[in-house]
Amino acid sequence: MNVSMGDAFNLGWKLVAVLQGRSTPDLLHSYSAERQAVAQDLIRFDHEWSRIMSERPDTTPAAQQAQPRFQQYFIRHGRYTAGMSVTYPPSALTGTAESQALATGFPIGARFHSAPVIRLADAKPVELGHTITADARWRLFAFCPAENPMDPGAALHRLCTALYGADGGLVARFTPAGADVDAVIDLRVIFQQNSRDLALEHLPATLLPARGRLGLRDYEKMFCADHSGGRDIFDLRGIDRAQGCLVVVRPDQHVAHVLPFAAHDRLADFLAGIMIAA
Ligand SMILES: Cc1cc2nc3c(=O)[nH]c(=O)nc-3n(C[C@H](O)[C@H](O)[C@H](O)COP(=O)(O)OP(=O)(O)OC[C@H]3O[C@@H](n4cnc5c(N)ncnc54)[C@H](O)[C@@H]3O)c2cc1C
Repeated sequence: MNVSMGDAFNLGWKLVAVLQGRSTPDLLHSYSAERQAVAQDLIRFDHEWSRIMSERPDTTPAAQQAQPRFQQYFIRHGRYTAGMSVTYPPSALTGTAESQALATGFPIGARFHSAPVIRLADAKPVELGHTITADARWRLFAFCPAENPMDPGAALHRLCTALYGADGGLVARFTPAGADVDAVIDLRVIFQQNSRDLALEHLPATLLPARGRLGLRDYEKMFCADHSGGRDIFDLRGIDRAQGCLVVVRPDQHVAHVLPFAAHDRLADFLAGIMIAA
């Protein structure tokens, strides 16, 4: 059931954040607050499961025809036993649902549900969820509204200025001096356009950051919707095409918040409730 994996994943990034001085030790209390309910559910589930497994087989002809009860129960709880049904309630780490309608397929508190996209730099189809690893970083997925993102007045350019502006952007506020720009908050942008309709040189330069020991350019920050037959992430995850949105994802890959694309201040306030300014 992988509950212990979920527990370890929940606790691991919090320990990293506290030990690196990026969050106060209070953050650790959220481990019990979030995982105790999961443990209680598991005890309830196992209790019922052991009762079903140990009951006498029903030998009536009708029951012989039907799917055995243990199979029905196991199938019905498939998402639970796979560890995918855990949804954390609102807290300092998980926002409230005012803007959930902007991305109905990314329920706040639930695990981030991957979908196919096209990597802009080389037009390669990839799974968005597979481009992020378990490395204790926060992810900010910016689903762009329906406008030309190459236009210097586009909302994307304003977002990048708010995050990386020369006069102290939001990302810099929480990132230790000398660390890679995405060491704490990793921005990934998803466009509605086809990759062949966008030119890298007309998009914000901060989306091609130099990083790592050798300062190599990271070409995996920008993605496009996959328009081949029913694979468009904007449709699959119910994202508002007109307005776009920001989806904040915790290091354990649970959705922390869904915010309007231009809600820079709300994003800053939310992160300030979790992280200490560097
Ligand atoms: C019925 C059941 C079935 C499960 N099945 C699975 C499974 O099949 N697969 C899976 O991956 N996971 C399963 N789990 C979950 C797994 O057991 C937990 O995820 C894991 O044990 C959590 O580890 P932990 O270190 O946080 O807590 P624990 O293993 O509970 O360790 C906490 C320790 O702290 C001690 N402690 C508590 N308070 C204090 C205190 N004040 N002072 C000192 N010590 C204290 C406790 O005595 C305990 O030894 C199951 C759990 C249950 C209850």
